[in-house]
Amino acid sequence: MRIDLHTHSRVSDGTEDPAEVVRAAVGAGLDVVALTDHDTTAGWTDAAAAARDLGLGFVPGMEISCRTSEGISVHVLSYLQDPAHPGLLAEISKARDARLTRAERMVELLAEDFPITWEDVHAHVGHGATVGRPHIADALVAAGVVADRTEAFAHILTSHSRYYVTHYAPDPVLVVEMVRQAGGVPVFAHPVASARGRVVGEEVFHQMVDAGLAGVEADHRDNPPEGRTWLRRFAIEHGLFVTGSSDYHGAGKPNRLGENVTAAEVLYRILDEGTGTEAFLPGHTTAG
Ligand code: AMP
Ligand code: FE
Ligand code: FE
Ligand code: ZN
Repeated sequence: MRIDLHTHSRVSDGTEDPAEVVRAAVGAGLDVVALTDHDTTAGWTDAAAAARDLGLGFVPGMEISCRTSEGISVHVLSYLQDPAHPGLLAEISKARDARLTRAERMVELLAEDFPITWEDVHAHVGHGATVGRPHIADALVAAGVVADRTEAFAHILTSHSRYYVTHYAPDPVLVVEMVRQAGGVPVFAHPVASARGRVVGEEVFHQMVDAGLAGVEADHRDNPPEGRTWLRRFAIEHGLFVTGSSDYHGAGKPNRLGENVTAAEVLYRILDEGTGTEAFLPGHTTAG
């Protein structure tokens, strides 16, 4: 089985509708795909329907943007959580509102130097989608300021840029706890992706494990080889599983579906531990 457990649609910062992501997964020869849009589950219904039509396995998920007290960005993947769990829903609603205010502020700053307006950015945000820097990047591309999102992130939109503004993001340890309370399975996304910014030290890994962390995404293109080796050893020592995934964003990133994959036994562990909602596997629906 070829299993890719990390993808984004237009419901956050991917460039394809949820059903198109599912079709692309079939085209890439995958057997199972998870949709993990940033801070939203709004794509689940369409993706699940498309997966049923096409006979593809589908795991509902979400990627939650967090920040530690030291200011380090951490992404937590959640699989099979109850999408209506009040605690988790409150946290992601707060984060999504803060993202909107933050994006407006970044556009104000950018508008001082570049031909871009909030309307330009808004035109690139899918209906009800989680707003992020990728949508600002799209407006900069449309204005001819940069060639693509990658170029926008290299300079203008990096976290060191003078146009960068932070937004509220929950603590990752709290989020791991909440995902478990919502019947979900929490996995630390690209944990050692040093090129994205500072990564957390071992003590934060331990706190996340104590809070109920289930796995670490070891095989992700942003994790350097030494980091992957460390993650595998850490996982064995702490009884965690390891996943491998693409972090597909459609045309928004070079990441290709299935460039990293997850073992079937790990999928079964996720299906076993996740009780908040149901996955779809052709032939049988999990008990949830
Ligand atoms: P934000 O959450 O608004 O701060 O923006 C971060 C998001 O931008 C991440 O979720 C990534 O998907 C996306 N991103 C980060 N780096 C790049 C890049 N080099 N090219 C395209 N998208 C990126
Ligand atoms: Fe993204
Ligand atoms: Fe991420
Ligand atoms: Zn992602």
